Amino acid sequence: MKKIYLDYAATTPVDSRVLKAMLPYFENRFGNPSSVHFWGQQARGVVEEAREQTAEVLGCRPAEIYFTPTTTVSDNLAIQGVMKAALKKELIHLIASAVEHHAVLDTCRELKNQGFKLTILPAGKDGLVKLEVLKKALTKKTALVTVMLANNEVGTIQPIAQISRMIKKFNQKKQAQIYLHTDAAAAADYLDLRVGKLGVDLLTLGAHKFGGPKGIGLLYVKSGVKIEPLTFGGHHERSLWPGTESVPLIVGLAKALEIAQKEKKQASQRVAKLRDRLIKGVLKKIPKAKLTGHPTRRLPDIASFIFLGAEGEAILLKLSEQGIAGSSGSACTSGALKPSHVLTAMGIKPEVAHGSIRFSLGKKTTEKEINYVLKVLPKIIQTLRRMAPKGI
Ligand SMILES: *Cc1c(COP(=O)(O)O)cnc(C)c1O
Repeated sequence: MKKIYLDYAATTPVDSRVLKAMLPYFENRFGNPSSVHFWGQQARGVVEEAREQTAEVLGCRPAEIYFTPTTTVSDNLAIQGVMKAALKKELIHLIASAVEHHAVLDTCRELKNQGFKLTILPAGKDGLVKLEVLKKALTKKTALVTVMLANNEVGTIQPIAQISRMIKKFNQKKQAQIYLHTDAAAAADYLDLRVGKLGVDLLTLGAHKFGGPKGIGLLYVKSGVKIEPLTFGGHHERSLWPGTESVPLIVGLAKALEIAQKEKKQASQRVAKLRDRLIKGVLKKIPKAKLTGHPTRRLPDIASFIFLGAEGEAILLKLSEQGIAGSSGSACTSGALKPSHVLTAMGIKPEVAHGSIRFSLGKKTTEKEINYVLKVLPKIIQTLRRMAPKGI
């Protein structure tokens, strides 16, 4: 049977160039970067080289890069770490968009449980956050705004640079000190991540979403930003994330990020063409199919749909029987059979959101694979709709 992977937004295979760069650091060059002997010095050198390489790609200073175990940890550290420091200045308010990943949203909700004030920024039908609502939500007690660079379920790209300008203006006018954090985990293969251009104070990434290994993430913290650690131990990562550095994974992240950002233009063009073929085909061949997310301001790799009268999980199983891997909403919530919070935030009714499917394409996706999906999917939807109870 054919096997077609269209779930790159859940995770990607490790690029062979990345794997090759990592391998020596598992076996021969295994030292602990904190050790004073030769092995340690070698490992320290490699970690700092990876930090410089990463900083160059993001357009920041090496000292502004912190390595963490994953995007989820980076999001937690950014949000909780900033609010912990802010509390000392009696700043207790934070703002998050309603379409954030759970790693951001649940962290913010936990802070709310602890007594912080949380504003959830609504999104429009296209998944874009409402800037006029954000403008009104900023106060002198606000410490942090967190809005993702691009959405991992529907692909909508947020106007981060515009949000940054709005915050900077407010900061100047009111002598406030609001920071902007962006979760860029879904965007690294395709969007420009230079922090100066984005105008962000904090940015999070995880390597396995862009051809790197699982188990390694990154947090950019602009110098001068007040942030405190959440865990304690040694002086690793300047005490913001203590614990012995994973040298091979750090090497892998740096290499993967360099490749992703160098090849993003080519990759975008190629993948967007295939995505458009998929979208056009689905909308033409399947009656009442709906594209979710913004029609144009979207990541080149994500084609997300709603099929009225068919259940997302059932579609996934049928697709899987035909060798096709997709996802319904986000992988973290599937199985729980809760409608995607992203889709409901975009005004889609929960019973309708149940019929959602996301295909996320990648660097290895081919036209032949897309054609196969276009052949198989209409029949699956037709079959499921026939089986479904009437009245949706
Ligand atoms: C995948 C993803 C995360 C979480 O990544 P982990 O690797 O599970 O920690 C967070 N935010 C976004 C936007 C993602 O796409």
